Amino acid sequence: MIDMEDFDMIDDTLALHHRLCDAGVPVAQTLQARLFRTETDLDGMIARGAMVRLVKGAMAPPDTVAFTKRPDIDANYLKLAGKMLSVDAHQNGFFPVFGTHHRDLAMRIGALADQNGWSRDGFEFEMLYGVNQPLQRELRDAGYRLRLYAPFGHDWWAYAWRRVGENPRNLGLLLQSGLKR
Ligand SMILES: Cc1cc2nc3c(=O)[nH]c(=O)nc-3n(C[C@H](O)[C@H](O)[C@H](O)COP(=O)(O)OP(=O)(O)OC[C@H]3O[C@@H](n4cnc5c(N)ncnc54)[C@H](O)[C@@H]3O)c2cc1C
Repeated sequence: MIDMEDFDMIDDTLALHHRLCDAGVPVAQTLQARLFRTETDLDGMIARGAMVRLVKGAMAPPDTVAFTKRPDIDANYLKLAGKMLSVDAHQNGFFPVFGTHHRDLAMRIGALADQNGWSRDGFEFEMLYGVNQPLQRELRDAGYRLRLYAPFGHDWWAYAWRRVGENPRNLGLLLQSGLKR
């Protein structure tokens, strides 16, 4: 699963994904729902029958290329999730992954998948270890596939600080989780 970073790296990242995919490497790609261009990028991935992890996007790009208001980002996430869970995507062998801790979105995605005939192990939710654990248990108990990510290593402070640099909102999340412990 290849992460997606800054806006100016997208074309190179997608080119790398396609090259690996064409060489038969089992590879998947993250796309960011806050970006205007993602709908077109996603259409290409669905046509390829690829595996895509949809996230909202950790960076804060300008409003010339991205939705900047949370309700707009959420609405676009849901719109793109609808494409990922479409009958066409299913028929193409596309594999949807949803990287979100947002309960309302997760519930809507589950309902959409049921409606379009996806089995609960035919797509995946992914979250960070320790974040919104009640939702993690709820999804697991309902029979959905769930993968948890646990960043670890000696450079945890540099990693956390880099995330703050990408989006100042992460400072609040970092302090919150520190205080909870
Ligand atoms: C598996 C995975 C892979 C990702 N890969 C990428 C990537 O390649 N590129 C990229 O740009 N972004 C990536 N992200 C980050 C993603 O873009 C979002 O910034 C992040 O997931 C927060 O959005 P949300 O959908 O969880 O919803 P939000 O609405 O932002 O959050 C929902 C709830 O979860 C809580 N929450 C969310 N994140 C955290 C956190 N870190 N710590 C504590 N509480 C939190 C919020 O406080 C809120 O209560 C990834 C996220 C995940 C889970």
